[in-house]
Amino acid sequence: MVGGIQSPAQANYGPIPGEILFSIIALLGVACFTYIVMKRMTPLLRGERDFRFDQPLIRLGRLAQFWLGQWKHPRYRFAGVVHILIFAGFLILATRAFALLVLGISGHFIVPGFSGLAGQMYEAIKDYAATIVFSCMVVAAVRRIVIKPARYAVPAEYGKGRGADAIFLLALIAVLMASESLFKASESALQAQQGGGTEFLAMLSLPWMFRNLLSETSVPALWNVYRGAYLLDVLTFYFLLCYRPFGIQFHVETSLFNIYFAKLERGTVKPVRWGVSDEQLDQVKSFGVKKFEDFTWKHMLDFYSCADCGRCSDQCPANAVGRPLSPRFLTIKARDYSFQHYPVLGNPGDGAALVGSIYSEDEIWSCTTCGACEEECPLLIQYIDKIVDLRRGMVDDGNVPKSIQKALKALESRGNPYGKMEKKRAEWAKAKEFQETCDVRTLNGTHGAGTLYFVDSITSFDDRMQAIGRATARILDRIGEPFGILGGAEKDSGHDVRRFGEETLFMALRDHNVEAIQASGVQRIVTADPHAYNALKHDYKDVPPVEHISQVIAREVRAGKLALAPVEDPDNVYAYHDPCYLGRHNQVYDDPRNVLDAIPGLQRVEMKRCRDRSFCCGGGGLMLFYEPQETERMGVKRVRMAAEAGANVIVTACPFCMTNIEDAIKVAGMEGRMTAIDLAELVDQQIARPGPLQIGTRQESAMA
Ligand code: SF4
Ligand code: SF4
Repeated sequence: MVGGIQSPAQANYGPIPGEILFSIIALLGVACFTYIVMKRMTPLLRGERDFRFDQPLIRLGRLAQFWLGQWKHPRYRFAGVVHILIFAGFLILATRAFALLVLGISGHFIVPGFSGLAGQMYEAIKDYAATIVFSCMVVAAVRRIVIKPARYAVPAEYGKGRGADAIFLLALIAVLMASESLFKASESALQAQQGGGTEFLAMLSLPWMFRNLLSETSVPALWNVYRGAYLLDVLTFYFLLCYRPFGIQFHVETSLFNIYFAKLERGTVKPVRWGVSDEQLDQVKSFGVKKFEDFTWKHMLDFYSCADCGRCSDQCPANAVGRPLSPRFLTIKARDYSFQHYPVLGNPGDGAALVGSIYSEDEIWSCTTCGACEEECPLLIQYIDKIVDLRRGMVDDGNVPKSIQKALKALESRGNPYGKMEKKRAEWAKAKEFQETCDVRTLNGTHGAGTLYFVDSITSFDDRMQAIGRATARILDRIGEPFGILGGAEKDSGHDVRRFGEETLFMALRDHNVEAIQASGVQRIVTADPHAYNALKHDYKDVPPVEHISQVIAREVRAGKLALAPVEDPDNVYAYHDPCYLGRHNQVYDDPRNVLDAIPGLQRVEMKRCRDRSFCCGGGGLMLFYEPQETERMGVKRVRMAAEAGANVIVTACPFCMTNIEDAIKVAGMEGRMTAIDLAELVDQQIARPGPLQIGTRQESAMA
């Protein structure tokens, strides 16, 4: 009995007793779902290893933040709030769904603890939850059908649109909410007609509205509504359960696991093979991802967990400039491939090479590894590791763009991508005028120093970027840092070599540098290149702690040891461009801004896309040697963003950003109206300019 009336289980449906009918439906539903999920898990069992079972407490904390707390959803405010409401509604309604399903089998079931006041309160809350979820379905459908946000669109090159599937799923959920509410309303109306006490229905909720509509309905018709609504609810529930693993709604089941097992570190790249040390790599027959099964099980889980919300591609700079890359479709294409090759009915197909079939070469080379997609994804889906793994597979097959091959060869033979002689690496420090102001020592065993300035290739060899090197050295000198460089003993950090998939070359560069750094005896490292910073911090082991020059300057300013003169032209408006490998990958957002704000009279504005939403300048490292197909340069877009923010000076803190942005200023025809300067250059200028006091002396602030 339910509320004093016969339960759906006690009624007959044609010749079949309710208990039997609903038991069969439940059995079939659960069996089908289990079978489909087992089929979906098959490729995961064949995938590569991935160690995601460490640090359970941190993982649980992140689960609370990103799954339960829906942390990233409000980044897209309207859609995010709608999703949070649906998610909260589902959590509330899970208990009711369970109770309803058991009711059909047992005839009488109340969830333990839900019989008294707690149960009544829950009933009211869940009535509102069902109403809110139903309303959200309507709103979401209107957005899909009428408003059509651009990020949901499927460009022709990525196949047919998925709008119909999305609408169908929204409709199924709406039917589920409506049938559950109708069941409750008809139950209450029957109670009223039978003269018994009626259950409280939350005012203005769906059940409350339905009961008002049913108030004049005859008792026989009410029984039909009551039983029909229950049957519809149960059928919809099981249909939805079994349908979800065929499309975007699979994330309802997988998201919890996907977020729990998500990557914990930033700035790192996965090893070539989990569980295989560098020394054992020569025994690995094939590097990277070539066929689907070369992805790790977690990467496959990522594919299943994508909600197709389009946020990653919406933020992707490669997608924005028309490169043949849209991270959303990297995932969707892999998921479609998995569904086709591991069908629910039938045997798995043969694994074909992914690049050349579902992915194009340009697509995989188009990524700048900026991390914008990963920062945005509410389900913590990773892209960079997958792209690097696909590149490793291409490099292993000798499938590398010509322009990059040349740079890689030069890196192998000379330790820099330009093919310049090793002994010329410290030439930047030998300019006569510079030497008069600053003496840069080469740490060759006889000249010791506490700090190593790691210069890296572009600053060492590019004429324009050498100015950043000299400014950095002067700042270190000014703050009394006993520092030196490795000179000819330094090789490229290998940061971007690794991200281009050339792991063995990266390892050779890293090992050489680690040996040279250790031999120098320094206690810490400073660099002005965020790529070198990221490599030294995350890709290298057994080296002293590393800081970016902006962190050093900010600390000196905070400590009152470094004061900066007022800006020369107070009419200039500055915008800080966050380099991806300083900002998103290492979370250094405030220090560069604090330094700028410490310059008296400096007017600073923020670009619309700043901090963790910064827009990549076009990429560094080997990206400078690759010309992808694109309709516009990323740097040009970035320069326009600065102009829109009202700036006429772009400050950055990365030699690669400087290269791309200065180039973009010319391409955009904005010379004379826009300039770019590195933070180190600006600070160097402000130290050198006559102005108010400069607190601290070399002796006072020198490191012990
Ligand atoms: S890392 Fe950057 S460029 Fe690469 S797919 Fe993600 S957003 Fe696009
Ligand atoms: S990967 Fe993440 S952000 Fe991109 S479409 Fe899928 S769920 Fe959305």
